[in-house]
Amino acid sequence: MRILLLLGLLLQGAADEADVVIRGATIVDGTGKDGVVGDLAIKGDKIIAVGAWKGTAKTSIEGKGLIAAPGFIDLHNHSDTSIQAEATRDNYNFTSQGCTTIVTGNCGGGVIDVAPYFKQLDENGAGTNVIHLMPHGSIRNKVFGSQRRPPTDEELEKMKSLVEKGMKAGAWGLSTGLIYVPGNYAKTDEIVEMAKVSHAFGGIYASHIRNEAAHLFESLREAIEIGEKSGCPVQVSHLKCSTKEAWGNMGEACAIIEAARARGLKVTADQYPYTASSTGLAAYTVPASAMEGGKLIERLDDPEEGPKLRKYIQESFDRRDGPDKILIASYAKKKYFNGKSIADIARTESRDPVDVAVEILKGGGAQVVGFSMREDDVLVAMKKDWVATSSDGSAKHPTEERPHPRNYGTYPRKIGLYAVEKHAIALAFAIRSASGLPADILGLKDRGYLRDGYKADVVLFDPEKFRDQATFDVPDKYSVGARWVLVNGVAVIADGKRTSALPGRALRHN
Ligand SMILES: [Zn+2]
Repeated sequence: MRILLLLGLLLQGAADEADVVIRGATIVDGTGKDGVVGDLAIKGDKIIAVGAWKGTAKTSIEGKGLIAAPGFIDLHNHSDTSIQAEATRDNYNFTSQGCTTIVTGNCGGGVIDVAPYFKQLDENGAGTNVIHLMPHGSIRNKVFGSQRRPPTDEELEKMKSLVEKGMKAGAWGLSTGLIYVPGNYAKTDEIVEMAKVSHAFGGIYASHIRNEAAHLFESLREAIEIGEKSGCPVQVSHLKCSTKEAWGNMGEACAIIEAARARGLKVTADQYPYTASSTGLAAYTVPASAMEGGKLIERLDDPEEGPKLRKYIQESFDRRDGPDKILIASYAKKKYFNGKSIADIARTESRDPVDVAVEILKGGGAQVVGFSMREDDVLVAMKKDWVATSSDGSAKHPTEERPHPRNYGTYPRKIGLYAVEKHAIALAFAIRSASGLPADILGLKDRGYLRDGYKADVVLFDPEKFRDQATFDVPDKYSVGARWVLVNGVAVIADGKRTSALPGRALRHN
């Protein structure tokens, strides 16, 4: 009896020593409830107390005036390659935004072979944790290339078996990119069949829907149908009303999703807080059919097809309100194009903007930024309690590229600009949309909230100083104001300074 008592005292004594305690911060726990002043204690990679901590700590952090929040989870990220690269694996452009977990494999593109990907992440570490989705387009491409036709039964089985293999290795669902090649060539039923495999393992279905412009509504209905037929919860990626054809339609788009939710379906979305998007120039300016078999250049040169494509490019400029609304982010062949609009380049070189686009398409294409949205549509979606924050960015460091500022500023922009400064949304609501909500969407059971026993992914920031610095003119400036960022209990930002720690790991679904 006495031995048990002694053991009990010893255990209690051990529990009273934390590794890290944040004292007196305003704790915003990820539920959407307002913050409460208190302590947050961490031991190893876990949170061991939220509220009051009477014990000691190896490291004590003064939290007065600061907000402690769950580390942010970026549902829509494209770091499949860059999170593995030595130069960018610390993912500082995201940790400086308070992000502690990213989701790769989005828009139907990315890593297919999950086991070695995860193994590599675990061995080398990363600045953030990584969750992965099985990319439909990459899988289709691997099985039968960029052919514009349905798969044969055998090909479909092969594609499904690749999804299954990935799900068994710990992927969290299936993603599609239905504007891209070859995702665009898939009919709804093909995707349903693949999503059923995701559902069998409890995964989600995330989609860059088929059209975000004139056909936004039917594209949302297709995503919902795929969810309903496969059983998967549906995640509409980077929800937007793109181009003039869709401006003003966000209310109705949200009503379509809300009607599905009212029928009991799990349908959610994510969004980045900007009125510009970014992707390859081809996706903005030529139809997916022109890319079949990787023969875009031949078609641009073809005496019959070429003029038709040029007309299509001109029309795409008109829908986007002119070639001055398309900025070159990264064009390998002529880096001096980076940061300039197609209209700027055409003016400087006294050329037709269509010629400039054709030159770039023939020269291997470029990443571009397109000012194709309206602020009022962005705000309608931002206020919905089923819309999470996402970046659509990737692990980067400053180079000669001029990428979309979302890569560096998404989370502080939404919290700092839209919640703290503009009061468009409440601060706790903005934090939930970046933490608890994405965790719930994924089915993450031990992250996304500040709770006893949860993993210690935490951001501590000053709400008056936590801001994005990246603009469209100077897009690669790191965000400021994150004082501490802990990933699995280890600081990647300590007292405002970048550390060299790589505590991020692959997170496996089971
Ligand atoms: Zn996308």
